[in-house]
Amino acid sequence: MNLYPWQQNEWQQLQNYIQQNRVPQALLINGALGIGKQHLAEQFAYALLCEHPKNGGFSCGECSSCLLLKADTHPDFMDIKPEEIGKNITIAQIRNLMEKLSLKPQFERYRVVLIHPADALNNAAANAFLKYLEEPTERTILILVTHRMNKLPATIKSRCQKFTMAMPEKSLVLQWLSQKTANSEIVLNLAQGSPLLAQKYATDEHLTQRRDCFGEFLAVANQKNHPVIIAEKWLKLPEATLLFWISSWVIDLMRYRHQSSPKNLYHADFKRELSELSSRVNPLKLYEFYDLLLQSRQRIETQINKQVLWEEILIAWAILNRS
Ligand SMILES: [Zn+2]
Repeated sequence: MNLYPWQQNEWQQLQNYIQQNRVPQALLINGALGIGKQHLAEQFAYALLCEHPKNGGFSCGECSSCLLLKADTHPDFMDIKPEEIGKNITIAQIRNLMEKLSLKPQFERYRVVLIHPADALNNAAANAFLKYLEEPTERTILILVTHRMNKLPATIKSRCQKFTMAMPEKSLVLQWLSQKTANSEIVLNLAQGSPLLAQKYATDEHLTQRRDCFGEFLAVANQKNHPVIIAEKWLKLPEATLLFWISSWVIDLMRYRHQSSPKNLYHADFKRELSELSSRVNPLKLYEFYDLLLQSRQRIETQINKQVLWEEILIAWAILNRS
């Protein structure tokens, strides 16, 4: 597969750069998480390096340049990423890169540096990088990829050509997802429109975990399980995901308060339980509870004791259901 189905327009824009011979020296590809930015950036890099691009501008996969790429030994392609996932790109990595870039490209075509995620450049690395951007070497294209533009220094952003990938069209994504899972609508809602995240949710434990948690959430509402016990169980789950689930259950409940059969539910597969629950909760109390969840979104980023956080939320939820 050369591209995801929602990337045709963006690919054409990148091709225009090549055809019009105005490929930016530093291109900053940005957009939401899980829409295939990295994939598009790689395809573009390969196309820049290929000696005989195919129709549509894709790399041929057969020329000497493409073969070197496949073997991970292309001297004019540099892939810069954190040495460990979640860590920074270090000043040592950037110094090493700068040393290589001070030499001429080995081949006649472009030299390409891919930096991802660009927001992982630490301050020192970003400064070293900035110096290079002021005096870049010939035929060298830097491609930076990020889904967190706000974490990138303004000085770097201002020296790059920004290339923003839009959120893909839902119908295209659903068509693509439905070939992979029967739960395409649900996982896409849970992934808030992000196709690759939705695909991940369809294949990992996500849906089962969500169902289990929802069962526990209901058990607390029905006084069949104790908030403190459930809070302890929830410690092993990813916090942001869990908080999103709870918030979206509450949003779905609010939707049920306003309409008898609301559309666009986050959790359409929990319809029966949600509808039943919504008929007996106090709407004002539900808004208060939602406020608590919004505050928790900020607290989750701090060093707060997570057991205490889940206890607070679940106790408030239990009280709400008793009143
Ligand atoms: Zn090729």
